[in-house]
Amino acid sequence: MSDIPVRQVDAGPNPDRIYVRSTTGFYQKLRTVTLWTLMGLYFAACWIQINGRPLVHFDLPERQFHLLGTTFWPQDFFILTLLLIIAAFGLFFVTTLFGRIWCGFTCPQTAWTFIFMWVEEKVEGSRNQRMKLDRKGSLSQWLPRKVLKHALWLGIGFWTGVTFVGYFYPIRELVPDLFTFSVTTGWAVFWIGFFSVATYLNAGWMREKVCLYVCPYARFQSVMFSPDTRTVTYDANRGEPRGPRRKDTDRAEAGLGDCIDCSICVQVCPTGIDIRNGMQYECLDCGLCVDACNQVMDRMGYDRGLIRYATEREVEGQPRRRFQPRTLGYGVAMALLLGTMAVLLMQRDTLDIEVSRDRGGLYQTGPNATIENSYSLKLSNRTNQTRELSVRVAGPEGTHLLEPIAMELGPLDTRSLPAVVRIPQRELEGMSTPVTFEVIAEGSEARNSAETPFIGPRP
Ligand code: SF4
Ligand code: SF4
Repeated sequence: MSDIPVRQVDAGPNPDRIYVRSTTGFYQKLRTVTLWTLMGLYFAACWIQINGRPLVHFDLPERQFHLLGTTFWPQDFFILTLLLIIAAFGLFFVTTLFGRIWCGFTCPQTAWTFIFMWVEEKVEGSRNQRMKLDRKGSLSQWLPRKVLKHALWLGIGFWTGVTFVGYFYPIRELVPDLFTFSVTTGWAVFWIGFFSVATYLNAGWMREKVCLYVCPYARFQSVMFSPDTRTVTYDANRGEPRGPRRKDTDRAEAGLGDCIDCSICVQVCPTGIDIRNGMQYECLDCGLCVDACNQVMDRMGYDRGLIRYATEREVEGQPRRRFQPRTLGYGVAMALLLGTMAVLLMQRDTLDIEVSRDRGGLYQTGPNATIENSYSLKLSNRTNQTRELSVRVAGPEGTHLLEPIAMELGPLDTRSLPAVVRIPQRELEGMSTPVTFEVIAEGSEARNSAETPFIGPRP
């Protein structure tokens, strides 16, 4: 193919900044739905409650993680790790099929940049108006708009920080505490400040630079691409030679392809690249250039799809293979991990018992040649229902609790209590004899046990 001519696009008065032109179309609508939905979920999930508990909440003091009505404990850490691995495989699976649609349609950096750009456009106007304002706007025009824009950005950043902390500090307490200046923990104030500033800088100032220079995913996603990965592609066979022309120009006669070199696809690109130069790691697969170019094609009376989601094979006129071995591999790995997680979830303990020996002494001597040991028990009810619990102890003949233990434990409640075990001295196996505490939930199959040593005198 002959060399593709390059025309410089007006980048605006500030070379460090991309003046993105807004566009409309199918992919912009899709992005609007996905990004607003995800942001809405982020801002709402900590307020929504199921059975009196937030939809998502990290309760650090109680060492509990509430997710969609299920509560996870430190012992369930493995299940949560599996969930993260499944999410990673899910990302790989989708990337092999559709390229970086995560970046273009769902990534938080994209979502917050999207809302900040929306605010910018509402306050300062369209791309041309913003460039004009920065180039030759008078101070009286420039200053109020800039102040308002940055104040709104800071407001969104602040609420993002409050919401983030609200996943750790109950938001229904945090918000009133904040506005009455009675937040009792310094870390909450620190993290609100940190996330406010980080959001403002990331989405307001750094924007695409986070994708280009900070995000690791941008760096390694290309290894998942193959000639069958569907990604935003400029059809150079159809578009070149590019060049301006009147609408009624005969392309064949003028020796032109379908690209009229209007540069609108570059102006709408949030990372400022020209997709006509081929696949680039800066491309987020957001589809905005597809929308923009389709509008140009409509105006020219040409077929849509000069820029489109396509695989390398499709653009070369070859049939597309829908599933490649690596896609199947990621899919199978994901299915296996999902199955494992489901089994682990179903089998996880709903009742827990921890036993520790009292530090007061090794043992006490009881009546009738018996020996006593004192323990601390910690019982946890990991369900959302109140349960009747009883504890028993098993060991050599005659092992028993000095005081029987039976209690009611509320949903997700944990209680510590003392227990004294007595064993006839003649039954001891030596200085250390194993005994087992067992907690049982009345009226159910749930039970759990913990073994611990019972210390006696030297034989
Ligand atoms: S929007 Fe389409 S026609 Fe215009 S420069 Fe880009 S590829 Fe060419
Ligand atoms: S080249 Fe197109 S799809 Fe890629 S980031 Fe730019 S506008 Fe989005």
